[in-house]
Parts: sequence; structure tokens; C-alpha cells
Amino acid sequence: MINMIIDAHAHMFTEKMFAGIHAPNTKYKISQAMINSVKHTIDDNKQAWIEAMDKAGIEKTIFMSTVSLNEEFTSFINSSDRFIGFAKINPELPDAIETLKKEIKAGMKGVKLYATSGEFNVGSEKAYPFYQYCEENKIPITIHFGVTIGMTADLYTGNPIHLSKVLSLFPELNFIIAHFGAGYFREALMLKYKRDNLYIETSGTNNWLPNQDNFLSLKDVFKKSLDVFGPDKMIYGSDTRIFPDGYRYHILKQQQDILNELNVSENDKNKIMHDNILGLLK
Ligand SMILES: [Zn+2]
Repeated sequence: MINMIIDAHAHMFTEKMFAGIHAPNTKYKISQAMINSVKHTIDDNKQAWIEAMDKAGIEKTIFMSTVSLNEEFTSFINSSDRFIGFAKINPELPDAIETLKKEIKAGMKGVKLYATSGEFNVGSEKAYPFYQYCEENKIPITIHFGVTIGMTADLYTGNPIHLSKVLSLFPELNFIIAHFGAGYFREALMLKYKRDNLYIETSGTNNWLPNQDNFLSLKDVFKKSLDVFGPDKMIYGSDTRIFPDGYRYHILKQQQDILNELNVSENDKNKIMHDNILGLLK
């Protein structure tokens, strides 16, 4: 029996949400194309997503918020039981737990940390109470390490090594590394050593590959992940933003083709495409 798919990494922006990301202190210039692409209502987004998910056989999609406590994002998430929301939070802030409680109450099921944004360090002791709360309440945390299109990127805070001690201090708290570590693949593999609470997620174009000091193809990355993380700790994602280009079917197909080429069993494919992420959600 082939399960449907769960896409564990996608985004939804409205114009207001997008404006919220670009605080006035940034010198980053937003392109007109980008401005045009976010001029869709929540209903437009919902309709486009449901249509795309039906077409691709996707049962549920997880959306990563890019702004904390955003009403538009919340109402989008709550508009369908096929949408799941992860809240954006800075875990070092003194009110991080309070913010998370509000987000959970609003319907969020997990947390997204933008480690490369440079705002905080995931290894900071200031973040420990937040991790403890997440551990006690079984709230999974997806982290974006490595390269990013974000304009405040800092590869120092974006290094997964900062998570090393946290993984051992909070063994029941499940972390998901997005985009295979987006350039820090080696570090992600090393972090997995003797740790059961770490997952790796496949989303994105994986355009970090040309900047590596090796000649891995995406197929090699999958093969190595299957060896080190195993099919129980790998999670599918596309990193789709539905406007302007629609669902990233090409990424879904590319990853499914690779899993087939690597002779991954139907059972293991179902784990990667569906079961593993479901097991992390309350
Ligand atoms: Zn993303």
C-alpha cells in the first residue's frame, strides 16, 4: 500500500507577511517580481495549494512561518486540516516560551529556527529553557542551517555544530535539519553520530552542492544519508512557495527517481515521504 505524501517544508507569504520579514534596517532591495508574486489572498493561496496537493498526491503540507504570531499565516493554516504550521521563533529571547504557547494555541504544531539569520545561536544556553519546553511538550524543531537567500545570512550561527551539545542535553527533543544542511552536509552527518533525535530533510533545489569541496551529486547525498541517517530519519520536503511558479513537482519527481534508482524499498520510501514526519507531530 502506497501512502500519500507529506511535504514537510513549504512557505506561504502574503504581501504583509513579506513586508514583515524585511525590517527597515536592511539594505536589501526587494525585486518587483517578488513584490508581485506575494499579491495573493489567503484564499488564492489555499486554492492553489489544495489543487497542487491533489495533483501530486500530497496529503498534508507543513508551512514554515517567516514571521512570529502572524494572523494571516494562522488563518491560512487553520483554513484546512491538510495544512500544518511551524512557528518562527528566536529561542534566545526571554519571551520565547510565551510566544510558542501562543503559537501552539493558534494551531501551530512545530517550530522553525532560522539559524543562518544571524539573530541567535542555536547552541546558546539562553535557548535551553525553550528546548526544555519543546522537549516536554513533544514539539519538533526544524532548523535552517547553511546557505540561504535571506539577506542577513551568517554562516557562523548557521553551522549545525552549534547544535551538538543541545542534542545530547535534550535527547527526547526531535530536531530536523532542513535542506540536507544546505552546505553543511558533512557537519549534519557528524552530528548524527550516536544521536537518535536528529532527522535530515531533503527540501529545496539543493543548489548548495556546487560550493562543496567534493563532487557529490544529489544522488550521492541521498545514498550517504540513507547510510548514516537511515530511512527512519529522513524526511521529504520541497520548499515550495506556490506563487509564482506553482508546486515544485520537478523536485518531488527528482527525489522519487533517486530513491527508485537507489532501490529503496516501498516501505522505506513511505517512511521518507510520509511516515517519519507524521510520527514527530503530536
Ligand atoms: Zn524554506
